Amino acid sequence: MKVIAGNFKSNLTRKASIDYLNALNSKLDSVFDSRICNDKDIYIFPSNTSLVQNNYKYITLGAQNCNDSKSGAFTGETSLLHLEEFDIKTILIGHSERRNLFFENDDICARKFDYFKSKNFKIFYCIGESLEVRTSKKYLDFLESQLKVIDVDYKNLIIAYEPIWAIGTGLNATLEQISECVSHLRDMSNAPIVYGGSVNENNSSDILKISDGVLVGSASLDINKFYQIIKE
Ligand code: PEP
Repeated sequence: MKVIAGNFKSNLTRKASIDYLNALNSKLDSVFDSRICNDKDIYIFPSNTSLVQNNYKYITLGAQNCNDSKSGAFTGETSLLHLEEFDIKTILIGHSERRNLFFENDDICARKFDYFKSKNFKIFYCIGESLEVRTSKKYLDFLESQLKVIDVDYKNLIIAYEPIWAIGTGLNATLEQISECVSHLRDMSNAPIVYGGSVNENNSSDILKISDGVLVGSASLDINKFYQIIKE
């Protein structure tokens, strides 16, 4: 089973996201049918304002972020209530953009993890080192420290290894670099380990050979590229 996930970030309007989801679902339906799609878990994380009913045949919808609350006085936030409306049961936690731009440290990520674990969500928990940590050669310790705060035996966990220096930069980690980190993480947890960081239709098949899946940002915005990655 391979996990193929697309993160739209703050891109695509609600209409554009719905058009994309309908088009991708029918492409998969007409070309592959269930024979091929059955061995893939395909996820799309649209922006929260573009979430719709989670009832596509081949695609599972997830939230890029959510507050760890059912509802309440959290101005500007999305809460569990909003995800439940659409039957969304999958969430990204700890994406480097949340960590770096919105100051979500390990404590906040762990709190969110515990909350959504208690709701039985599938959790893509993102970890990854900065260029500075990579250069210091302490990256394996760093990844361990990021995982230490969560229950790595949680049955609905997917670990997304995304070196920050490779996200949105076009700089892909080498297969050796990815392999080293994936094997290290496999020693720590039985959860599937997916890789993210400038994955595209040209490098995905090699990366899929050494990981349990891919988390795709920019290339997922282009339906043809994302479809190509699924086919790979
Ligand atoms: C991401 O945002 O998770 C990501 C991997 O982005 P990109 O593919 O654009 O590097």
